[in-house]
Amino acid sequence: MKENRIYNFNAGPAALPLSVLEEIRDSFLNFAGSGMSITEISHRSKSFDDIINDAVARTKRLLKLDDKFHVLFLQGGASMQFCMIPMNFLQEGKSADYVNTGTWSTKAIKEAKLQGKPIKVVASSEDKNFSYIPKNIEFSKDAVYVHITSNNTIKGTQWANFPETNGIPLIIDMSSDIMCKPFDVEPFGLIYAGAQKNIGPAGVCMVIIREDLLNLVPDNLPAMLKYSTFVSTNSLFNTPPCFAIYIIQLVLKWIEETIGGLDKMEEINRKKARLLYKTIDDSGFYKGTTELESRSMMNITFRLLDEELETRFVQEALENDLGGLKGHSSVGGCRASIYNATTLEAVETLTDFMKTFERKNG
Ligand SMILES: *Cc1c(COP(=O)(O)O)cnc(C)c1O
Repeated sequence: MKENRIYNFNAGPAALPLSVLEEIRDSFLNFAGSGMSITEISHRSKSFDDIINDAVARTKRLLKLDDKFHVLFLQGGASMQFCMIPMNFLQEGKSADYVNTGTWSTKAIKEAKLQGKPIKVVASSEDKNFSYIPKNIEFSKDAVYVHITSNNTIKGTQWANFPETNGIPLIIDMSSDIMCKPFDVEPFGLIYAGAQKNIGPAGVCMVIIREDLLNLVPDNLPAMLKYSTFVSTNSLFNTPPCFAIYIIQLVLKWIEETIGGLDKMEEINRKKARLLYKTIDDSGFYKGTTELESRSMMNITFRLLDEELETRFVQEALENDLGGLKGHSSVGGCRASIYNATTLEAVETLTDFMKTFERKNG
């Protein structure tokens, strides 16, 4: 049993800022002088209204979203978006383009096809085990949207620049890298992110939708599966995951006020990733699994000589208070997820450990 907190490199649910966890603890029994826990107050109360409105306002400021964008908090995880997107936007005769860059893109494609939607996979990196991000993609002129996965959590790749789609709205799964750096939101019709990697706990998915896409939503969908339902009710059609939204609000406040915004966040994230990749590249002992220019800033995947050594690496790391370094079960190997809340100190401790482990076993 650990008495102390360890350095957390989990892929998701993942590390949260310590100051946020402390604030949750300190206000848990009596939220904002209400005499009740945040988990005991009504989602129709003024207190909760203030929380959700603040979370929306901070999202808009951080991503520089203007009024044509709506920020929503939905349930069902990012996985629910895989089916909601085609359901809401692809009616009779309409088609969309998808780019397949890994496990999660593959699932998004599967869910659209399951509904019989005529979608096209216009590019894929499956030929090289999803170790790169495809380039020079030609999109269909009649596509309603183009779907991409921003950061491939399992395979360890990330789009450095988003593709040019000539005005076709981009729809993007940013579950594992939203708020890791600033980006231009102009080409996007819809942005979604399960919160449990970079902005909060499990149980809620942030969805940012551009006003004009709402015109595509058919009337005959169940209310719970329709974006317009949640736009018109400020995400309060039914009881939302209040506690999860509250934590997102605290994380966004931390990014804005403690870190100092997304430019600063990116600076820190780049520093962490650079240090970790340099340790891998300088070693001749650890091997990266992806093409250099497609490397993720969030999920650093690497292999050791054999599986026995990898198992020992993960075990010994944990004995040294470095947790969550096992790669996803579908790909094996090792993975350090270094989301926003993972500190530079954590990464420095990890790279020191990696060097020591190499000296003993290399
Ligand atoms: C984790 C993850 C998902 C799945 O999220 P859920 O909230 O569990 O549905 C989807 N896409 C990406 C890129 C992810 O990393």
